[in-house]
Amino acid sequence: MADGATAPPRPEPDPDDVSWIEPPTCPRCGAFVRIYPTTYDRWVSLATVEMPAKDAPEPFRWRLMRLPDLSRVTTDIVAVRVRGIDPLPGEPVVPAHRMRCGPDW
Ligand SMILES: [Zn+2]
Repeated sequence: MADGATAPPRPEPDPDDVSWIEPPTCPRCGAFVRIYPTTYDRWVSLATVEMPAKDAPEPFRWRLMRLPDLSRVTTDIVAVRVRGIDPLPGEPVVPAHRMRCGPDW
């Protein structure tokens, strides 16, 4: 309360119910995307499937990580750019949707 953390908790998603979220679509190309928060207050559209790191150019490599919410037992998923370290060629990464839907598409 002193930190201003007064927002109501999010409802617990039902893991057996896969229909509770309609996958968002890209306004440009209509493809299904996944939209995740990042660690710096921005949101990013990611492809719905992972691919080996060797098939995704470095600027488009993302990884999904669980961010422990210390105030609750739930965890949040955040998108983190894969940078600094080179992943193994076969290591799965989540490509940014922009890779398929960039200005030159
Ligand atoms: Zn698109």
